[in-house]
Amino acid sequence: MSGGAAPRRVYADLLKAYGPRGWWPVTVSRRRGPVYRPGFQGRLSSRQRAEVCVGAILTQNAAWTNVVKALACLHAAGLRDLESLARCRSARLARLIRSSGYFRQKARKLKAFARHALARGPLERWLGGAPLPALREELLSLWGVGPETADSILLYAGGREAFVADAYTLRLGRRLGWFGEEAGYEEAQSFLIERLPRDARLYAEVHALIVEHAKRHCRAKPSCPGCPLKPRCHHGQETPRA
Ligand code: SF4
Repeated sequence: MSGGAAPRRVYADLLKAYGPRGWWPVTVSRRRGPVYRPGFQGRLSSRQRAEVCVGAILTQNAAWTNVVKALACLHAAGLRDLESLARCRSARLARLIRSSGYFRQKARKLKAFARHALARGPLERWLGGAPLPALREELLSLWGVGPETADSILLYAGGREAFVADAYTLRLGRRLGWFGEEAGYEEAQSFLIERLPRDARLYAEVHALIVEHAKRHCRAKPSCPGCPLKPRCHHGQETPRA
């Protein structure tokens, strides 16, 4: 099965309903922690790029609020760049990121990523320079980096055209009739890439809007009344009025 509401229309409806989300949140002022910046068009600093990569690993199986706590601990300890993360002892790093869960594993993942990235040169050049498929394969070859983490790093830290087709995307896409229940990450990603203009800023916004929508309406048990996508949604049309 494939089809349903066109992704471009869904994007327009979600943008109208929720407004631009300003992902990925990064630290602008150390007093405030990571902030969302709707409409921001500038470039990230190298520390902010590193923070996106760290956040993409820490957010695996973790609520973002707990990731923010872990980032605050890292920053308070002076670990704001890849060099200091690579140098930090694993046990200390694990203590600092405890709030994000699976903290011993994640400490290892962070160190493995930091060491690899440092060997490849400045983040902006590494993530911005290599052909996308090869770079994605390289990221996927790192311990603890799966498709969602790799694409989050590519899209939000590197500004590359890698759509993040996470569990929220799968849930929404199945309900909208974009693909079937059996679809996985790669199929959902291909579906969207084939139907959206190839534009990293657009991908960043679409993904962020889908996450927002999944939290407000398209939850595990969907709240269809009042959903901005209901007129286009197979699942929503079958749901009785509240
Ligand atoms: S109508 Fe219901 S199932 Fe469809 S997108 Fe909205 S919340 Fe999700």
